[in-house]
Amino acid sequence: MAANSSKPFKICTLGSHTALQVLKGAKDEGFTSLAICEEGRVRPYESFNVADEIITVKSFSELPDLDARLVAENAILIPHGSILNAIDLKTIANLKTKYFGNKHILPWEVDRTKQRQWLAKAGLTLPKIYKSGQDIDGPTIIKFFGAGGGKGYFLAHNPEEFERKIKDHPSKRYVIQEYIVGAPIYIHYFYSPLTKELEVMGFDKRYESNVDSIGRIAAKDQMDLMIESSYNITGNMPLVVRESLLPEIFEMGERVVEASKKVDPHGLFGPFCLETVITPELEFFVFEISARIVAGTNPYTNGSPYTDLRYNEPMSSGRRVAREIKLAIESGQLDKVLVNGVA
Ligand code: AMP
Repeated sequence: MAANSSKPFKICTLGSHTALQVLKGAKDEGFTSLAICEEGRVRPYESFNVADEIITVKSFSELPDLDARLVAENAILIPHGSILNAIDLKTIANLKTKYFGNKHILPWEVDRTKQRQWLAKAGLTLPKIYKSGQDIDGPTIIKFFGAGGGKGYFLAHNPEEFERKIKDHPSKRYVIQEYIVGAPIYIHYFYSPLTKELEVMGFDKRYESNVDSIGRIAAKDQMDLMIESSYNITGNMPLVVRESLLPEIFEMGERVVEASKKVDPHGLFGPFCLETVITPELEFFVFEISARIVAGTNPYTNGSPYTDLRYNEPMSSGRRVAREIKLAIESGQLDKVLVNGVA
């Protein structure tokens, strides 16, 4: 894909999380794909033949050291969950490498309090938050800050249980959230700042250890073994939703995009995900937003049942990002998709 000026653009991402579909999608849209991989973790990107070029680093935390090189390569960086784990927001903000997305939205994703304000502004139904462990009067889930993939989360039903369990996590920041009993559904969206249209890309459910296997042993054995629930993510499973839920799903996504414009004028765009639980009364509770591509889109390298309806060609979320960049380049609007990047 040729740049307006001289050097062709490359699409680059960290070799982890959703990199396989991002890199493949970039190639499908005619870009050169560049993977930044940690030593000893290169194999999938070679074996699956998705990376035209690979840069190897000891740790993703070295990304700032590659900044000048990536600028010279005319690379466009596609962020995903691993970048948030590897470097802090200030460092991301200071990168000069072109960056797909709106960096101003990141603090609103990372800080759970701000995130809640945003989702509340969008008029979504959220689980109750308990200010203190002493207030717990029903099932709660205790979640730690940062994109840790659910590791270490625990449940507590009363103040005593909370006090006993929180002792294992000294000096960690956490939030105490009402535990919603229902079906967890992760909704994958894409919002185009070029067409101003919201697309539903697909859905997934997660495969978490050990909660997704506890049901395989009898309740008595669970009690005897004193098993504590944990939510460490191990994979994702594809899902379609009851079709009558779709109108509400579109409206929820649109309201989130609208509310994001109050947070920053450029708002949220590109791929994002609402993490929900649907109750038996079919009410959506939104417990989190990911303001970027999520790993739950990985089952759809070749497109989801929904993108198949719309595109009639394989369209992963990764490819959709590359398509948006391509359309932006072709229409001279690259600045609209690289907010706080150098277009
Ligand atoms: P998160 O890190 O926020 O994506 O949460 C990890 C997992 O915890 C989710 O996949 C859900 O299975 C579960 N979970 C999180 N929040 C809630 C909640 N408020 N009610 C019920 N389950 C939840």
